[in-house]
Amino acid sequence: MSYKGPQGNKLAILKTLNKGEFVSGQYLGESLDISRAAVSKHIKSLQDMGIDIFKLSGKGYKLNHSVPLLDESAVNQYYHALSGQQKQLEVMPIIDSTNSELMRRVQNKLSINSGQVLVAEMQEAGRGRRGRTWQSPFGANLYYSYYWRLDDGLQAAMGVSIAVGLAVYDALKALYSLEVALKWPNDIYLNHKKLAGVLVELDGTVEGPCHLVIGIGINLQMPETASQQIDQPWTDIASHSNELDKDKLVAHLTYALDERLAQYQVSGLTEMVTQWNTLNAFAGEVVCLSTGQRQWRGICEGIDAQGGIVLRQDGEVKSYYGGEISLRKEVIE
Ligand code: ATP
Repeated sequence: MSYKGPQGNKLAILKTLNKGEFVSGQYLGESLDISRAAVSKHIKSLQDMGIDIFKLSGKGYKLNHSVPLLDESAVNQYYHALSGQQKQLEVMPIIDSTNSELMRRVQNKLSINSGQVLVAEMQEAGRGRRGRTWQSPFGANLYYSYYWRLDDGLQAAMGVSIAVGLAVYDALKALYSLEVALKWPNDIYLNHKKLAGVLVELDGTVEGPCHLVIGIGINLQMPETASQQIDQPWTDIASHSNELDKDKLVAHLTYALDERLAQYQVSGLTEMVTQWNTLNAFAGEVVCLSTGQRQWRGICEGIDAQGGIVLRQDGEVKSYYGGEISLRKEVIE
């Protein structure tokens, strides 16, 4: 994999530090053919990105923890071992948001193939739903988007985030034996803490082809600085497993998405509803649904055949649909 552009020197410094030894500023400067002042500027901006580099006078720079970087050819090898196929997969060092980049390609009618994957080491403007920020510090976590084209119109895309949640479940189970819980419509929890988020974005017409950009952020090893910006309980893979091979994770996630989306295309959610309901993070709990303007309270019964969330309210059950609805556990004071 080659990193191009102005970030190249930072990545080269990081790769050298990733070997785990002390490295002097002079050595870095000479090997990159830049001044020591330029080296220390790069180190400062890597630190600003949340990377734990410290300096010891007389010895140089060292990383507190190595930063797992993506390697396109390793991902392709793992993916091929799982699926027997090749995949169009691209790694970018820094981007505003992997979803935004794929959506720009769709909207600008640039060449893009269904099943294509884009991953980045860092997002400068990682997004959640409704304008919220997804913390995306450099190298620490996985920032991933998968483009999928559905030819059956917008209506057919309605249940996709359910299938995607199950794909994330499949990948994390296969790789780390983790049993995650799913929060409707788009989050992945572990021990009641948010481990990953899904953001499905659509471009299409009611009848025509529908372009879906499926964004997935999975926390691998969240640095302290970024974690302070998250205003709800969160967790990362490093808190539950020693296996932090990001390349393997990309391959497993991609394979799981291929499988679940193919299943979705053939039979919609028919074969997924029961399993999703066994993984429902809020099963039987009192929850509050909210759109910002309106709120509904009830007992969370799970999802229905279309992927809507079912609440029991005053003895009656009612389904709610829509990507912009937020579900939170009701806090009883
Ligand atoms: P909702 O209840 O509406 O689904 P949400 O918390 O799931 O709310 P999202 O839009 O899915 O909202 O995600 C954004 C929110 O997730 C942020 O407001 C923040 O609280 C939290 N968050 C941001 N970055 C991370 C991260 N890397 N890991 C875990 N949680 C994060």
